[in-house]
Formats: sequence, C-alpha cells, structure tokens
Amino acid sequence: MMNNGEAMKDTRSESTSATQWWAETHAVENMPPPLVDYNLLTSDVALKEAIARSGAQWAETELNEFGQNAGTQESIALGFQANEHRPEFFSHSPDGARIDEIRYHPAYHRLMQVSIENGLHSSHWTDPGPGAQVARAAKCYMQTQIEAGHGCPITMTSAAIPALRRQQNLFEQWAPKIMARTYEPENRSYTGKNGVTIGMAMTEKQGGSDVRSNSTIAHPVGQGGPGEAHELVGHKYFVSAPMSDAFLVLAQSAGGLSCFLLPRWHPDGGRNAMQIQRLKDKMGNVSNGG
Ligand SMILES: Cc1cc2nc3c(=O)[nH]c(=O)nc-3n(C[C@H](O)[C@H](O)[C@H](O)COP(=O)(O)OP(=O)(O)OC[C@H]3O[C@@H](n4cnc5c(N)ncnc54)[C@H](O)[C@@H]3O)c2cc1C
Repeated sequence: MMNNGEAMKDTRSESTSATQWWAETHAVENMPPPLVDYNLLTSDVALKEAIARSGAQWAETELNEFGQNAGTQESIALGFQANEHRPEFFSHSPDGARIDEIRYHPAYHRLMQVSIENGLHSSHWTDPGPGAQVARAAKCYMQTQIEAGHGCPITMTSAAIPALRRQQNLFEQWAPKIMARTYEPENRSYTGKNGVTIGMAMTEKQGGSDVRSNSTIAHPVGQGGPGEAHELVGHKYFVSAPMSDAFLVLAQSAGGLSCFLLPRWHPDGGRNAMQIQRLKDKMGNVSNGG
C-alpha cells in the first residue's frame, strides 16, 4: 500500500516478532475450536433425558458407544465428503448398453455401512420390546447430525418391513435380508446378497402427495393377484436412493391403487427394466442422489 504517494516504510525490523511478514494479515484468535471428538450422547442432555423417560435406558451403553464413534473427527469428515463429492449417474456403459447406475463416494458407502451394522434400519424389528423404537431413533438422531442424506435409504429400508408383513410370501423371502446388518452395495442381484436396501417409488408429477391419482399401471404377468408377478408401466418423479436392491412402488391394479415390490435385478440375474433419467437437487439429500 502507498501512503501519500510515498512507499510505506518497512517496519518489520521494528516488529515485536522476527517472524512477522506483511503477507500475514491477521492472526486467528477468539475462535471456537472445531466441534470434533465429542460424544453425541453424553453432550446432549435432552436426548439422554428422552431415552430415560421412554424406557430405553437398557440401551445406554450401546448408545454411548455409538455417540462416541459418531462424534470422532473421522466420522464427521465422512459427512462432509459424502456431500462434497456428489453421486454420479451413468445411464449407459461405454459400449452403449443401458446400465442406469449411480456411483457414490466411498464416504457415503462407509456411512451406510456404519448405520446398517449398528441396526439403524432394523434393530426395532429384530429386537422389539419396551424402548426399542426409541433406542433406534436415538441412533438415527445422532447419525443424522453426521450426515442426513443416507438416512433416507436407512429409514426406507426400515419402513419396508411393516408393508411387506402384509404379503407373507414376499416377507419370508425378503425380510431376513432387509433386517440383516450387512451392507452389500454392489450392483448385482439381491439373490446373491445377504443384506439388501429398499427404496420407494410413490410420487408422480400429477399427484404429489395425492398418490390416488397415480397413473402407473400394474399389468398381471400370469394369474395376477396379491404376491404374484406384475409388469409395471409408468413414470415416477421422485425415487431417492436409486441403487436400492428393490423398491416399493405404488401402481394402479385391477382392485385399485396397490403396492408392489420391484427388484432392480430379476431373480435370474438380468437387470430389471427400470430406467433412471437424472439425479435431482434436493436439499439435505445431495449425498443420496435421486
Ligand atoms: C428429499 C426428498 C426425497 C424424496 N424421496 C422420495 C422417494 O424416495 N420416493 C417417493 O416416492 N417420493 C419421494 N419424495 C417425494 C415426496 O414424497 C413428495 O414430495 C411428497 O409426497 C409431497 O408431494 P409434492 O412435493 O408433489 O407436493 P404436493 O403434494 O403438490 O404439495 C404441495 C403443497 O400442497 C399442500 N397439500 C398437499 N395436499 C394437501 C391437502 N390434501 N390439503 C392441504 N394441503 C395439501 C402440501 O402441504 C404442500 O404445501 C421425496 C421428496 C423429497 C423432498
């Protein structure tokens, strides 16, 4: 900088610190340290009180350990990384075949793995009882503070269980894999996996939350009826977590609007004819795609 047309006097030699340079414009003072390496349970009085009030104290040791792990610098960094490195959509393979594949950053997969291995998608179904829902919700509440987007497939996978209970043959086939604490994100058929995730395809453009106006049609393949094969023809507007192993899909059947389970791969190993058009920008859901 110039002062009245004169070159500024170099006063560095008069400085109190021999290491001070003009390029050093400001010292960082009076800033809180980064919020890392803390326990998300023990630092949260309201959460602890809610757990005690709801009869989930039996889970306190487990929740304490989960809160400690969630609050590490490494865990918090995963949340940032999964959102800074967006999932990428690949409609076709280099040789022109449709693949409809979304590739996620390893941080997203790690977050999914942590959530599934800790039963955020299933502990309340596999170990029901007093406080089971609250204990699971407490883990979800802590993990959401680390990263929100992956909570979408976690909670959809959980929510598939009560829906599938209405169709016993599908429940028996799918429930053990849905509730397993194994994360297997590979793009291959559910038949060779021990653990699967479930997405949902309900919303259509013309209806939004009025799903009765859905126009997707379910055509019976063979005899039709509950639990039997159908071909679904239609267009969905939101399908988060598009790499899920299967989706609960709403479609119009002979008896009215019904819910179908659509695997992304056929049981024989071929890709099902579900085509993805684009990834959407949805607030709080960047890491998740779709
Ligand atoms: C992050 C994110 C992820 C999503 N993931 C999925 C997914 O995986 N699968 C899927 O199927 N869908 C998904 N959705 C879509 C979601 O289910 C719909 O956004 C939701 O059902 C609302 O529909 P809409 O956005 O069309 O709003 P609309 O239904 O058009 O509602 C617009 C406005 O009208 C109001 N409104 C609607 N109906 C009524 C009524 N009867 N009376 C009074 N007010 C009313 C609403 O409160 C809102 O203010 C996702 C949405 C978001 C934001």
